[in-house]
Amino acid sequence: MPKQCELCGAAKAALRRPKTLQSICKACFYTVFETEIHHTIVQNQLFQPGDRVAIGASGGKDSTVLAYVLKTLNDRYKYGLNLFLLSVDEGITGYRDDSLETVKRNEQQYELPLRIVSYQDLYGWTMDAIVKEVGRKNNCTFCGVFRRQALDRGAMLLKADHIVTGHNADDIAETVLMNILRGDVARLQRCTSIVTPGEDGCIPRSKPFKYTYEKEIVMYAYFKQLDYFSTECIYSPNAYRGYARAFLKDLEAIRPSAIIDIIHAGESFEIRQGVKMPVQGTCQRCGYVSSNQLCKACVLLEGLNRGLPQLGISRSALAKARPHLPSSAPDASKSEMAPAATTSDVRQKDTVRTGISTLDW
Ligand SMILES: [Zn+2]
Ligand SMILES: [Zn+2]
Repeated sequence: MPKQCELCGAAKAALRRPKTLQSICKACFYTVFETEIHHTIVQNQLFQPGDRVAIGASGGKDSTVLAYVLKTLNDRYKYGLNLFLLSVDEGITGYRDDSLETVKRNEQQYELPLRIVSYQDLYGWTMDAIVKEVGRKNNCTFCGVFRRQALDRGAMLLKADHIVTGHNADDIAETVLMNILRGDVARLQRCTSIVTPGEDGCIPRSKPFKYTYEKEIVMYAYFKQLDYFSTECIYSPNAYRGYARAFLKDLEAIRPSAIIDIIHAGESFEIRQGVKMPVQGTCQRCGYVSSNQLCKACVLLEGLNRGLPQLGISRSALAKARPHLPSSAPDASKSEMAPAATTSDVRQKDTVRTGISTLDW
């Protein structure tokens, strides 16, 4: 005989909640899932009434659930937000074209206006064309750098006050692990912040799912029968994150609180006095925020347009920064990380520089 719901005691339990392993009914699951996100939003004061909020919408489960839940909470608690869907078309045939069809359906289903910005329009290159040029190995570097800027530019077109993305607790815990493994102090400090403040003309971005488990997002989407696109990007091997993810899933299987515990550990790190942090300026070419003369996107674009796509990701450039890097060394070039900030940089100069990771979008 099925158990009673551990929360309401009135209904039969329909599921075991991944985060707490409580047996609960569907109605209670919706309530705790939505209410936790509401509390995250309120406690961190993510929004002001009247804000125009752009939801980074890929058509995937995370951003689809985010759009649905934000709309629900905005209506229920009268946040007073103007919500928009903002999608980036990287130009990946057989992947993004299909997922954009999902976002277009979400536009109708949730009655949220949709804006799409494309790499082709912004940069003159689609990812299909970039992969032809650079091969499959480093293409995630290009995509991650371009996507972050594309989302900002799209949000500016929407005159948005705020960008939200569907990064969930698993994503953030993985990033904490990866930044520890790489000794990337600058990103380790930033990666657990729920909101990136809007400095230097940037639009603030936040992650309302910071404490929301991926398994619960999948469960919510499934029970609510939300319309989302579940294919992985055809170009992304992303080996390094894959290992961090597998490790995290193993830990979660033994102890579900591991995900939140890692996030809390990341939040508690403090940077020792005397470690120089990157100084933010603006790109001399495009005006985007950058700690170097040219932003990463402009460097990568210049390489593409000059027929030297390795510019900005090449091993010779890496070698200058890291003279001790053996040629078979850990796959910095394969990862989505810009090569600027590495353990050896930190060790050699006690200085870290910024780069941009795909997870930042
Ligand atoms: Zn219940
Ligand atoms: Zn630039």
